[in-house]
Amino acid sequence: MIFRSIPSVASQLNHPIIKNIVENHAVSSDYITILIKKYLEEVRSEIVSGQLTSISEDQLLNDLVDFIRKRLKPNMVPVINATGVVLHTNLGRSVLPNAVNQHLTKIAGRYSNLEYNLETGKRGSRHDIVEQLITTLTGAEAALVVNNNASAVFLILKAIASEKEVIVSRGEIVEIGGSFRISDIMKESGAILNEVGTTNRTYTHDYERAINENTAMLLKVHKSNFVMNGYTHSVLTEDLVMLGQKHHIPVYEDLGSGVLYDLKKHKIGNEPFIKEIVNKKVDLISFSGDKLLGGPQAGIIIGRRDLINTLKKNPLIRALRPDKLTLAALESTLLLYLDEKKLVEELPTLRDILLTPQEIKKKAEELCDLLLDDYKPYAKIIPDYSEIGGGSMPDVKLPSFVVAVHSDRFDVQWLERELRKHDPPIIARIHKNALLLDARTIQADEIVIVAQGLNEIFGTRMI
Ligand SMILES: *Cc1c(COP(=O)(O)O)cnc(C)c1O
Repeated sequence: MIFRSIPSVASQLNHPIIKNIVENHAVSSDYITILIKKYLEEVRSEIVSGQLTSISEDQLLNDLVDFIRKRLKPNMVPVINATGVVLHTNLGRSVLPNAVNQHLTKIAGRYSNLEYNLETGKRGSRHDIVEQLITTLTGAEAALVVNNNASAVFLILKAIASEKEVIVSRGEIVEIGGSFRISDIMKESGAILNEVGTTNRTYTHDYERAINENTAMLLKVHKSNFVMNGYTHSVLTEDLVMLGQKHHIPVYEDLGSGVLYDLKKHKIGNEPFIKEIVNKKVDLISFSGDKLLGGPQAGIIIGRRDLINTLKKNPLIRALRPDKLTLAALESTLLLYLDEKKLVEELPTLRDILLTPQEIKKKAEELCDLLLDDYKPYAKIIPDYSEIGGGSMPDVKLPSFVVAVHSDRFDVQWLERELRKHDPPIIARIHKNALLLDARTIQADEIVIVAQGLNEIFGTRMI
């Protein structure tokens, strides 16, 4: 019976290799005992499910050592994004600029004036740290930062429209991803959804007819992650603002991403320029910190001071307030926006979006040049498209160049897996029978790592 070949926890704990790990890492043997138990349980259930039909003692010990070592290190590791998706939500969205990383390290390793007013020597507010910078950059009257844009939407609905009606166009009751639906978040907040118009066409008079004494807000949601073409009509922000003013009802626009740097001047997409929306006198606007803004995860709310004050006073803000690392990263990211020339050079999100196909091709060529001569024939540079990602501008295809790896001597699924298991992991995508590595999102200092990784992996298959 195979179960009998499972060793006891005690015998494993006393094995010299395991004892060595305990000594070298100064971890308690209690913790190692828990890990051994967990591991042996996994082995047992693999036997039960039929996944495992035979085990050798050596194999088991090797696996156990890997299992333990893995759990003595952080689970979260840097990865190389060769997918070409600049804002890859699964890969952590924005890459922070060097200046931000330096500031973060400085703040994280010391005490700071997070909630301490250095002028008065009294308690200060964390909400004051970036408010002025945000109002300067956007032209808004007041600003507030929360954990992410999802919490911004929630806080605004809860603080301003709980138990009251919020009018939304049927075409804008969207699902953003990660099960975040406008209709669900509204239910959670206690606001009552009043849907108007149809999926494809909504007019100002649809909103106007729905207004009643219980209406607390007119909500406009940016359709970030899908495109609707053909026979469509939606109400312009300025028209909604006029309607809101006429009936004294605040208008809130959830921009999703929005941009503080106008990408339209590079003819990239049609993402609303936040300053322009502010100029339209929308009462409240919210957007993400880690989408096109290129900073840390955060939800930025801007708009009328009285409404921002209402949000600040809501008890929920205590649960949604950003931590010092977020604020440090956001403040130093926003400081880069004061100098646009520096910004496009230093902010990875914008820099990678604005890379020209020629610049990307050069990166791809550098990568291929670093492959060993024997392996060069497996890699070809071909034109392709990258995406912005993060639910932003789904219809925008950025012309790019990819290194397409293909050979009859190996299977691309295998290659994709090996790259993913590499240290650091390299994430690429399979298209037909080739593995594509988009040079746009491979950072400059990662080119050599990717080339070395490919050389090593080819080597294991070629001997
Ligand atoms: C992305 C997005 C959100 C959620 O923002 P997070 O910062 O990811 O929480 C909300 N609304 C819209 C329209 C979005 O595009």
